[in-house]
Amino acid sequence: SDKLRLVEFQEGLARQIERQNKIETALRDSFHQDLDKSFTVVLQPLHDTKTECLIGAECLMRWTLEGKPISPAEFIPIVESTGDINKLTLFTLSQIRKTVEHLQSEGMDCKHYMFAINISVVEILDVKFESKLLAALAQHNIDPKRIKLELTESALIDNFSYVNEVLVSLQSKGFTISIDDFGTGFSSLSYLCKLNFDEIKIDRSFVTNVVKDSKLQSVFNSIVSLAKNLDKPLVAEGVEDMEQMIYAKAKGVQYVQGYYYSKPLPIDAFVEYVLEDKS
Ligand code: C2E
Ligand code: CA
Ligand code: CA
Ligand code: CA
Repeated sequence: SDKLRLVEFQEGLARQIERQNKIETALRDSFHQDLDKSFTVVLQPLHDTKTECLIGAECLMRWTLEGKPISPAEFIPIVESTGDINKLTLFTLSQIRKTVEHLQSEGMDCKHYMFAINISVVEILDVKFESKLLAALAQHNIDPKRIKLELTESALIDNFSYVNEVLVSLQSKGFTISIDDFGTGFSSLSYLCKLNFDEIKIDRSFVTNVVKDSKLQSVFNSIVSLAKNLDKPLVAEGVEDMEQMIYAKAKGVQYVQGYYYSKPLPIDAFVEYVLEDKS
């Protein structure tokens, strides 16, 4: 009956609120101690489609609640709302340093590797964002030329001119600006018109299954020609098998990332991946 459905709905809502509260409390605890006690950074290899060479990695955050992994899609928006997101960005930079040092100790020349980090738009709105970022890079001895900033949208940008000012300044310091999740949510054509950027990252919802779905192919191909017309490189994420990789390559996508190459890896496993990489 309708009444039963209403009760079920209310119970579902109550459970959701309870879970949200639990996550918020646990996150607060995590930020009250050393971040490396609760958070870890995993690295997902990025490859050049032409040469298939490893060119670097995207850094993704991991966090667990009572031993169970919680998706960043769930906890990142909470961290954004509490104002702690920049702490995770700076923590990510410390983990890049750790990775680079580990690679160097294995005798790997990784001077050309690019590390992509996810930047929430709310972070950019902090007037100290750029200076904090530059200070952390200097502290960790990382050149901004090796950092791609993937702009992720969990809210609509309502101050494009300010955000763009910051992006232009970051570009002048050597950072690469990527428009993440292009084609979904708030990441739309208006971003491309209003923001200075260096590359477009096509969302995985247009990539995975592209080989079998003609509608996806139309969207995919449109984004490819858009990027070509704008003269910007394209990154495809969510490449899960060889067919998708070959498809992306044939279309002229420059960089790919996905389970076909590797899942996101803890630092040690990433170092192993680099050592085994024959490209
Ligand atoms: P994203 O930036 O679009 O990251 C790509 C997501 O796709 C990652 O999920 C990755 O694990 C997943 N993925 C990669 N390759 C494949 C594939 O071949 N198949 C499938 N099915 N999935 C694939 P993840 O790690 O759960 O991250 C989710 C989102 O959380 C990210 O989406 C990003 O928006 C956000 N996020 C993660 N770490 C951070 C962070 O440190 N800071 C900020 N601001 N956001 C973060
Ligand atoms: Ca990303
Ligand atoms: Ca995303
Ligand atoms: Ca993405």
